[in-house]
Amino acid sequence: CPPVPAGSAGTRTTPARLVTSVSSLPNGLPQRVATLSVHTSPLDQPGTGDAGGMNVYVVQVAKRLAARGTEVEIFTRAVCRDTPLLAEISPGVLVRSVPAGPFEELDKQELPGQVCQFTLEVLRAEAASEPGRYDLVHAHYWLSGKVGAAVKERWGVPLVQSMHTLGMVKNAALANGDAAEPDERIRGELEVVAAADRLIANTAEEARQLTRLYGADPAKVQTVNPGADLSVFTPGGPHGRAEARRRLGIAADAAVLLFVGRVQPLKGPDVVLRTAARLLEADPGLRRTLQVVLVGGPSGRQERADPDRMRELAAHLGIADIVRFEPPCPQAELADWYRAATIMLAPSHSESFGLVALEAQACGTPVVAASVGGLRTVVRDGDSGVLVDGHDPGDWARILRRLLGAPQRLHELSAGALRHASAFGWSATVDGLVRVYTGAMDEVAARVGA
Ligand code: UDP
Repeated sequence: CPPVPAGSAGTRTTPARLVTSVSSLPNGLPQRVATLSVHTSPLDQPGTGDAGGMNVYVVQVAKRLAARGTEVEIFTRAVCRDTPLLAEISPGVLVRSVPAGPFEELDKQELPGQVCQFTLEVLRAEAASEPGRYDLVHAHYWLSGKVGAAVKERWGVPLVQSMHTLGMVKNAALANGDAAEPDERIRGELEVVAAADRLIANTAEEARQLTRLYGADPAKVQTVNPGADLSVFTPGGPHGRAEARRRLGIAADAAVLLFVGRVQPLKGPDVVLRTAARLLEADPGLRRTLQVVLVGGPSGRQERADPDRMRELAAHLGIADIVRFEPPCPQAELADWYRAATIMLAPSHSESFGLVALEAQACGTPVVAASVGGLRTVVRDGDSGVLVDGHDPGDWARILRRLLGAPQRLHELSAGALRHASAFGWSATVDGLVRVYTGAMDEVAARVGA
């Protein structure tokens, strides 16, 4: 594919079809959006492999846009020969599986090699169905942005880009055992940032990173917070915790520390285990009630999975008897884990937002999180949880010991968590996206009309 030169936004780098205008519904929304999610499918279970917050985001936003009248077609790479090329996952939301490369999961490093074929297949699908079908492209992650940069030129529609994570930011905060993001990704991100008509930042901090590190035009960057499904993530009634614990086989008087997410160095699951060991060192009596739960699978396609390493670490620390490893599960089940927890821990080294921390709070569970990236927005320090500088298990254990010994404080934080999370529903996210979409479409329409 021809590279998109930096600063070329708004210029045509590939032969363009003659465009009359993008079409919108009476409420100003695009009639149909092409959502690009090259590397991970909305059909995947989040919390393992390459599926996580981005998958949840894509599906939640698509369903809510469809409810407002916009049809959403999500393009993703076909990883299985038997996957139907077209599937409706909910009214108005189609998943188009695109054959590009082998019918198997590929490592993220192998995916750039499939971007060209993927682009071709997206163009083919549009041409074969109904040319002029899409009014806007929303691409997720830089790989999809590369595809979006090419198809938006061909279709004459705006490209809205969500980066989700940024290679430069990740590389500045690598955890022990994490591989650095390759130069190819950074170069690709720079191209995508230059090509996009609008860039969605999850937080104001990400907006600054896009402009300062990636040279994005500040006028194109808009902050829209992701959300949580506030109908699924609830405290579950006045006895929500007790009932969840009964369902999960957890003692009523347990002090439960919860970690949720892909078990990978970046997320700091080792900090959770080391913190628990420190807590027991400081207060051996806690062994009777302390319970650590890690919910999630390995990240990517690891040869030797990090969850196994965590099991070994738990054994090495002498706490294997109080640690439960749970496989990834659907969100309705996950809500029970959040409710059952006394405190949720999010010791990530880098986090663009941190949906799990938001979901836990929506269930009324306070969060102790590393003071990094999006977690600084997701957790209101001192009100809905505690933000911790660094990852020293001694520091984390001191904070947790204080909290576990102060039920009234935990009660206040739980109320604060509920209050804070209530502002982050997905409808608010979609409201924000709609503003971005309409602004981008108006701009393209004006350009075409000029
Ligand atoms: N998740 C899930 N089941 C699991 C573990 C995680 O559905 O067993 C979901 C979780 O509800 C959240 C997402 O995966 O919405 C993880 O998003 P987050 O932003 O925390 O992390 P990411 O994976 O994007 O790094």
